[in-house]
Amino acid sequence: MTPAKKLSFDNSYARLPEGFYSRQLPATTPQPGLIRVNRDLATALNIDADWLASDDGLAMLAGNQMPEGADPIATVYAGHQFGSFNPQLGDGRAILIGEVLDQQGQRFDIQLKGAGRTPYSRGGDGKSPLGPVIREYIVSEAMFAMGVPTTRALAAVTTGEQVYRDQVLPGAILTRVAKSHIRIGSLQFFAAKGQTDAVETLLNHLIQRHFPDAESADIPALAVFTEVMHRQAELIAQWQSLGFIHGVMNTDNMLLSGETIDYGPCAFMEEYHPGKVFSSIDAQGRYAFGNQPAIAQWNLAQLAQCLLPLLDENMEMAVEMAQQVLNEFPDIFFSAYRQRMAAKLGLTSCDEDDEKLYQDFLALLEQEKCDFTLAFRRLSELSHSSGEIESIADIFTFSDTFSPWLARWQTRQQQDPLQPSQAQQQMLAANPVFIPRNHLVEEAIQTATQDGNFDRFHQLLTVLEQPFHYHSQWQDYARPAKPEERVLQTFCGT
Ligand code: AMP
Ligand code: MG
Repeated sequence: MTPAKKLSFDNSYARLPEGFYSRQLPATTPQPGLIRVNRDLATALNIDADWLASDDGLAMLAGNQMPEGADPIATVYAGHQFGSFNPQLGDGRAILIGEVLDQQGQRFDIQLKGAGRTPYSRGGDGKSPLGPVIREYIVSEAMFAMGVPTTRALAAVTTGEQVYRDQVLPGAILTRVAKSHIRIGSLQFFAAKGQTDAVETLLNHLIQRHFPDAESADIPALAVFTEVMHRQAELIAQWQSLGFIHGVMNTDNMLLSGETIDYGPCAFMEEYHPGKVFSSIDAQGRYAFGNQPAIAQWNLAQLAQCLLPLLDENMEMAVEMAQQVLNEFPDIFFSAYRQRMAAKLGLTSCDEDDEKLYQDFLALLEQEKCDFTLAFRRLSELSHSSGEIESIADIFTFSDTFSPWLARWQTRQQQDPLQPSQAQQQMLAANPVFIPRNHLVEEAIQTATQDGNFDRFHQLLTVLEQPFHYHSQWQDYARPAKPEERVLQTFCGT
């Protein structure tokens, strides 16, 4: 038997014309060390997991040796950062080493994040400290386990180098996997220069890769825009239903594939509050929890702007078309969100009265400063007494203030066509009990950075693999931070 190929590349982005990227080898690293390989993901991507964990695999993950077929590039993009347009961004600390096809034939980018300087690094060193690598690994894999479209973590390695920030920190590289890394900002880069041909080239690439149905549409650019809008609406509805705050929804951090990307200053909310902000650099609260849907729509408007010349020769007509699609966003978002809230409350659907039901629940959570995740989880337990599931009652119960609301909800549940046991199953599958809480992520980062100990990191990943299954021996991973453990701010990975 011939040994399975360790991995085979097919690099479609690197076949685009030169202006879309710069060829760039990763920097070499003095003393790489493997932290973790995501074996299941490797296997799904047709990458030999044993090879990946071997010295040869490590040499690739650390940027020291590119395997046959790799064609490392840094891609160029622009973007609106906190509302202001920056015409020149790009992969400043990330290198796309190539694309692979998974077992279903779906194409994925393999990118080394923290692999050294590129022509787009500006003043930066192109490196990443260990902390952001650990954070992204944990949070992106947790999002995946909760069913949210997201980039993923294939591996994490230390480089043996020191990285200089406000303190000296160990360097590390995350291997990131994405359906593609094409951002709203990728189109903005060319559109801002008036390079409509390049916008069209990239659009065609996107159609091949993510939107094959758009090819035969009357106006392919409009079909792509509509589909991106739907995927964004669905994605943000998922974020809102889980209490996830992205933290830096700049247009260069919004993927057209509809996956979540860029786990920098992100956080899962504990106490519910729509104005919640964790990002240290978001002084105005632009990317606060409750603003995320509106920001997504604002970002889509920037995308529409890029596509106008491809919609119609007549600019007024083009604007009219784009506007029509954009105007649908709130409805599409709310219908996706309502459906998710219905699932969280154990209902088949959500009409106007039910909307009031979840709004009142959220208002109570806010008033009583309740943990968003545990409140919904506890509700799932109360929906049916099956005796088969372990309860979180030791770490969360509702105060008497909730009694009238709980009675209302129980009456509504009785009118629902769902059987109580089915309703409970639905709720348990929609309301995670384990989320990557800030203090847990921080603890994993601190022990790794200070002591070189990755036990907390590995253990947390094990718990988060099954976010919907509670085991009381893992109670410490489910409870909110104690006052002294609270993490009030999160930071960009830079
Ligand atoms: P972000 O806010 O993480 O999305 O990054 C915004 C821009 O800054 C992107 O173009 C990044 O490539 C670039 N960047 C961030 N950190 C670094 C770094 N350490 N070295 C070089 N470029 C960086
Ligand atoms: Mg970014």
